[in-house]
Amino acid sequence: MTVPILAYHQIAVPPSRKAPYRSMVVHPEAFHRQMEWLKRLGIQGMTLREAMPYVRGEKSGRVAAITFDDSYANVYENALPVLQEFGFTATNFVVVNQIGGSNVWDTPISVAHAPCMSVEQLRHWHSLGHEVGSHTLDHVRLPRLPMEEARRQITHSRELLEDLLDEGISSFCFPYGDETPLDRVLTYEAGYSAATTTRRGRARSADDPFGLPRATIRRNDSWMHFVKKCILG
Ligand SMILES: [Zn+2]
Repeated sequence: MTVPILAYHQIAVPPSRKAPYRSMVVHPEAFHRQMEWLKRLGIQGMTLREAMPYVRGEKSGRVAAITFDDSYANVYENALPVLQEFGFTATNFVVVNQIGGSNVWDTPISVAHAPCMSVEQLRHWHSLGHEVGSHTLDHVRLPRLPMEEARRQITHSRELLEDLLDEGISSFCFPYGDETPLDRVLTYEAGYSAATTTRRGRARSADDPFGLPRATIRRNDSWMHFVKKCILG
């Protein structure tokens, strides 16, 4: 069996034309329609942690993991109510040093400023049964760092999130999908159970759980694109 792991970033009214990475901003109405499609197709949307037994082949059923990168406040505002409406859960990958901050890592490439979820928003997200995963401390390109700094970004972000939420953190997401075999080992050693990349495709039991592929959902994906990504990967 294969499992689609959907990757979203911002859920908001897209910025003006020509804005860099505009394709990563999905309109709230489009997100609502996409969740409606999952429901119609009989696919249960769930966190990555909940989807892992399906990826490993221990459970069977029509499921999709729903993931959000970077922990934008607009995901809390615009996606959370939709997830609640459809009875779906999702994973939010947090840049730990920007809790209550913003996407400062995007400033050099002129992406519009967007706030990240606050501690209160993260705690509320988590209290509703949604997952919080780590996306490092500072949204770094791990392969460019000395090993000890890469280890700190992976391990310390997990420790801080565990202290914040008083629960084990299972899932990790490599910023920019940038990783090497060593980064996967560091992620395993830090105590995570799964990590996602930006490699395209559906997850299957033969995949390395520390290098899971995903399907990125973009602003202008038609319903046909979306359904294909959910069914075909
Ligand atoms: Zn990211």
